[in-house]
Amino acid sequence: MYDVIIIGAGVIGSSIAREVSKYNLNTLVLEKGEDVSVEVSKANSGIVHAGFHFDDTNLKGKLSLRGKTLIKDLSKKLDFPFKENGSLVLAFNNDDLLVLAKFKENADKRGIDTKLLTKEEILNMEPNINANVIAALYCKSSAIVNPYEMTIALAENACENGVNFKFNSKVINIEKHNDIFNVFTETDKFESKIIINAAGIYGDTINNILSENKLHSIGVKGEYCLFDKVAGGIINSTLYPIPTKESKGVLVTPTTDGNLLVGPNAESTDGLSNTYVSSSTLSNILNTGKNYVNNLQTNRVITTFAGVRPKLQEHTDFIIEECSDVRNFINVLGIDSPGLTAAPAIGEYVSTIIQSLIFTTKKENFKDIRKGILKFSSLSLSEKNKLIKSNPLYGKIICQCEMITEGEVVDAINRPLGATTLDAVKRRTRATMGGCQGTGCMLPVLNILSRELNKDITSINKNNTNSFIVTK
Ligand SMILES: Cc1cc2nc3c(=O)[nH]c(=O)nc-3n(C[C@H](O)[C@H](O)[C@H](O)COP(=O)(O)OP(=O)(O)OC[C@H]3O[C@@H](n4cnc5c(N)ncnc54)[C@H](O)[C@@H]3O)c2cc1C
Repeated sequence: MYDVIIIGAGVIGSSIAREVSKYNLNTLVLEKGEDVSVEVSKANSGIVHAGFHFDDTNLKGKLSLRGKTLIKDLSKKLDFPFKENGSLVLAFNNDDLLVLAKFKENADKRGIDTKLLTKEEILNMEPNINANVIAALYCKSSAIVNPYEMTIALAENACENGVNFKFNSKVINIEKHNDIFNVFTETDKFESKIIINAAGIYGDTINNILSENKLHSIGVKGEYCLFDKVAGGIINSTLYPIPTKESKGVLVTPTTDGNLLVGPNAESTDGLSNTYVSSSTLSNILNTGKNYVNNLQTNRVITTFAGVRPKLQEHTDFIIEECSDVRNFINVLGIDSPGLTAAPAIGEYVSTIIQSLIFTTKKENFKDIRKGILKFSSLSLSEKNKLIKSNPLYGKIICQCEMITEGEVVDAINRPLGATTLDAVKRRTRATMGGCQGTGCMLPVLNILSRELNKDITSINKNNTNSFIVTK
C-alpha cells in the first residue's frame, strides 16, 4: 500500500515527487511513457519567466514568481543547466510603448527589477536586433533552463530519496473503496491513500473517472524551429514581442546549450497528442523572428518540434486542489505556461496539501544534492586524460557533433532512473542532438543500449512503445 501515488512524470509530477520525498511517505509515480518528460515538459521554450506578464491575483502569478526564485537555487543543488540571460520586450510603435509601460508598472509592484531602454541602449546590448525598434523593457532576472534536464534532475533526486517510478504504466481506471484508491494500469493494480493527478493534458480523463465535476482539456499547440549552435550566438537575451491575446507571442531565445530557438505560435488543435508541425506555420514563425532579428540564418534550422499547452476549458488559472467530491484526490491541472517556471513552487504547494491530509514526519537523511552526468567536453585536457585513464570509455567519442563519449552514454543508462530509449539517452547526454541530428551516432548509441540493457537491438525504442528503429 502506498501513501501517495502521483500520476504523470512531467516537470509537475517530478517536482511534486521530489518535495514528497522529503517526508516519510511511501510514494509511487506512474508514467505512461518510457521515461520522465515525454510530453509537454520536453517541448517548450525553456524560459524562466521573470513575472511581469503575470500578477498576484491567481496561482499562476504567485507560484511562478516563487518558482523563479526556487529554480535558481535548485539548478545548483541538482546540477541542471540554468542561465540568467535577461530578456527584452521589444516595442516597434507607440501602441507597443503603452504595453511596456504597463509591464513596467506591474514589475515595480511585484518587486521585479526592470528598466526601459532606448533604441541606442538596445542596439548596444544586442546589435542584431532590427534597428526599427524604438524601446524595450529589459529584465535582468529572466532566465533560461533546459526543461527536460530539469525534469530528469528532479525525478532522479526523488528516486534517490526513495520514490518509486514505474514507466510504461498508463493509468486506465481508479476505484475508491473504504478510503483506499485502487489504481489500475494495463498490467497491474496499486493501492494508495492519496492520489495526485499530474497527468498534464490527459488529466481531465483521470479526474473524470472519479469526480462528478467533469473537466475538459483543450489543446493549444506551439511550434518551434531550433537552430544549429553556429547560428546560436546572434543574440544573448530572450526577445519577447508584445503579447497577443492567446500567448506571449513568438520568442527568439538562446537555449542553455547555445542553440537558438524561434517560436511558438498558438493554435487550437483537436487532437491532444497532435505535435505535428506544418511548413506554413514554421515559415510564419521564421518570418516573425526575422521581424525582430537581423541575420537569422534560416538555412541553419536543424530540427522542428511542437508542444501542446495543457489548458482546461473554462479555466484560465492553474487548478491545484483536493477534488471537492473525492477526498484525498488532488488535481494539479491546467498547468500551461508558466508551468515550467512555477514547477518547484507547485511541488511545495502540493506537498503542503498532502501534509494536511496525512500525518507524516520529515526524513532525517533526505539527500538535497544530485550530481548530473559528467560533461566530458567541458573538462580541461589534463582532466580529460585523467578521466580516460580511470575509465577508457571516456576515450571513445560516440557523438562527434556534441563530443559525447561512451562513458557519458553508459552513465545515462545506469543512473537511478535509467534510460532505456534512444531519446532518453539523447535528453540526458545530447547524443543525436547536434548538427547531424544522429546520422553519425544513432547506431552506436543503440548498440550501447542493447549491450547495457542486455536486449536485442530490434527491441530498443526511439521513444515510446513500438517506435523501433532497427528491424529484423
Ligand atoms: C509551446 C509551449 C511553450 C511553453 N513555454 C514555457 C516556458 O517558456 N516557460 C514556462 O514556464 N512554461 C512554459 N510552458 C508550459 C510548460 O511546458 C508546462 O506548464 C509544463 O511542462 C506542464 O508540465 P506537466 O507535468 O503538467 O505536463 P506533462 O509534461 O505533459 O506531464 C504529464 C505526464 O503525464 C503522463 N500521463 C498522462 N496520462 C497518463 C496516464 N493515464 N497514466 C500515466 N501517465 C500519464 C504523460 O505521459 C506526461 O508525461 C510552455 C508550454 C508550451 C506548450
